[in-house]
This record gives sequence, C-alpha cells and structure tokens, in this order.
Amino acid sequence: MATVKIPKVKVGQICWTCGGYDILSFRLVKVVEIRDKPRKGETSRVFVKPVNPTETDKIWLGNDLIIGIHNPDWLFTEPSDWRNGFEGSPESVMQPVIEKKPTNCPSCNSKITAKMKFCGECGEKL
Ligand SMILES: [Zn+2]
Repeated sequence: MATVKIPKVKVGQICWTCGGYDILSFRLVKVVEIRDKPRKGETSRVFVKPVNPTETDKIWLGNDLIIGIHNPDWLFTEPSDWRNGFEGSPESVMQPVIEKKPTNCPSCNSKITAKMKFCGECGEKL
C-alpha cells in the first residue's frame, strides 16, 4: 500500500493553523505527531498542540489539547506566511538555532572543550 509523503513539517516544528478552526485559526501550534496515513475512521495525518493554550482551548480540545490536521498543506510554516490576525509575529515559526561552541582555540587552533575557560596550549581566554 502506498503511503503519502508529508513534505512540509516535522515533529517539534512550530507552525500556524490555517482558517476554518474557529478560535483555533491562525494560532501558533507545535507538531506533536505525524502519520504517513490516517488511522481507520480518522482523516487527520498531522497532530498539533497550541503553543499558548488558553482555558477556552481546553473546553474545545479537552485536556490533551490535540488538534488533528487533515493535510500538512493546511499549516503555515514560513515567517513570510504571517498575516495580520496570526498569533505571534513572523519570527514565531523560526526554528531555534543551536549555537555550536568552537572546538578549536581561535588563537593557536589547538583542540578545546566547551568547559575550558582558557586554552591549555597558549592561554588564550575562551
Ligand atoms: Zn590556544
């Protein structure tokens, strides 16, 4: 059986929902589960949770706060997708950048570790 490729989103990614979800339209959500194909009797393939859940969300969604999205194309993922009325700002969907510590001394290029405050070779402050 052929499975449908979901091209756009991955688990943990922050997106906006599209319109048509009443109070849950254009909200910031985090992808919590992706299925290649829907389960029997279900049509949703992507499952998301509000990033900033409200009391009203709990009434609508129950305590697990899961929103099922039928098609990942119905999620907005790019800062350029932001429009007036979307939750947050265009930057809200940017993925966190993990800063990599340098692994070599900037002065003498010998190996250093993240814990070191000074280079063991040349004494350069790190
Ligand atoms: Zn050094």
